[in-house]
Amino acid sequence: MSASSPWRRSPSSSLISLSSSPRKRSSSSPDTTISPSSPRKRVRFGSRTRIYPDGSSCSSRVSSARASSVETSDETEYTSTDTLLILAAIYHDIAIVCLNRKAASSGHDPLPYEKDSVSAAKFVDRAITVNELLKVELLQKNFPTSEDLNEATAVRIAWSRVGFRIFAICAWSQAFRQVCRMGSSELRRKLFGLMARNMTSIRTFARLRGLDWRGPLLKHGKHRSRKIDHRLRPRPKIRADHPHEVYIALNKKLRVPTDASGNKRVHIDQSIFRPKFWPSKTQDPTKRRSVDGTCDICSSEDLCDCTLDSRAGEMVELVEYPGKGIGVRSLANFKAGDILGEFAGEICPDDYDDDPVYALVQQSKTDSETAIAVISPMRFGNWTRYINHSCNASTSFERRTVGNRTIMTVEASRDIGMYEEITINYGSDYWKNKTCKCGEEGCISSYHSESEGSNSN
Ligand SMILES: [Zn+2]
Ligand SMILES: [Zn+2]
Repeated sequence: MSASSPWRRSPSSSLISLSSSPRKRSSSSPDTTISPSSPRKRVRFGSRTRIYPDGSSCSSRVSSARASSVETSDETEYTSTDTLLILAAIYHDIAIVCLNRKAASSGHDPLPYEKDSVSAAKFVDRAITVNELLKVELLQKNFPTSEDLNEATAVRIAWSRVGFRIFAICAWSQAFRQVCRMGSSELRRKLFGLMARNMTSIRTFARLRGLDWRGPLLKHGKHRSRKIDHRLRPRPKIRADHPHEVYIALNKKLRVPTDASGNKRVHIDQSIFRPKFWPSKTQDPTKRRSVDGTCDICSSEDLCDCTLDSRAGEMVELVEYPGKGIGVRSLANFKAGDILGEFAGEICPDDYDDDPVYALVQQSKTDSETAIAVISPMRFGNWTRYINHSCNASTSFERRTVGNRTIMTVEASRDIGMYEEITINYGSDYWKNKTCKCGEEGCISSYHSESEGSNSN
């Protein structure tokens, strides 16, 4: 996850893999679980809501978890793994284009984005020309190679299947352009079908990252196509500074999550120290000390400059799940052991009581007895605060030492597939006085109800 370990992309599958060092969690590493969730799940645990490590039950469930299951979305059950991999590559390409654009506009290397723009524009130009030619049945004459013909046919089908906007968005993806040019008709049929069922997600992904999909269309508006013209009309801006300050509601509309007082939940990349919470301390207690062990990125025993690359978090979306509230949906294929992100929030003292929902105890990886601080992402946090609970969770909280900080991370405890909901185990204490309805085999609430001789759930 350091600068030297960027996203790797397998050439054969376009699978996104995030490397972290070390990749494997130590088997003795306890799972410190607690309750980041949507406000719907607000539950108080006496005066405190924090939960301490509950390793045994959680890890046994994790080990029984099915690897690489892709099952949470109705949208995926008719599609093959190949198609999901290609769609993951399309999201990945769009994310990279948007990062390149950011880099270019902030005065860094403009070349990668220029290349992206040229490729997208050429593809769109060709597509629109084809469409014109199709109207007058000149296609065969004007597209002599089989690849040209293949692409022309693909473009026409994509257009009718997913509409012009999704087509214009995906035109920025090399993977999409390749499928149009060289994919079989069966592959294209499946891919466009899958895209058609996930248009809100694709559109939102591009919109929240500021993809300039209208750019290559501008010269084709007005005179050539009323359809394009309609698409080029400006839309109202979303009141969000970061993709994870917005979620897709059940009605497919975009919503901004707020706290109980109506304040927007603000995104931060990493935890922040607030001196106001620490009258007796002037220094951030999560700063790395010599007793916190070696850096988990470079293994250095001394202070180093390593930082956790949080780009895995680019490849998730916040969506509302029926009966659960806001949750996190994977837009990539993550591997067991991938560090998905820091559990970020405001760094509060151990006795902090004002966050009964999201707070997580932070400990050093070398000392599981002592709380260093409490991380509260109620107002300021990142996407990890929205991860829902499951008794068959796909991730776990881990304690890490990285660079000059100690942090809590969310890491994949098994492979996580495209469009799968990312879940975490909140721990048995969380469910003491209420019923988990995750429906998983070995659900903690089924243990409780059995031991109480009750069948109710
Ligand atoms: Zn380091
Ligand atoms: Zn459960």
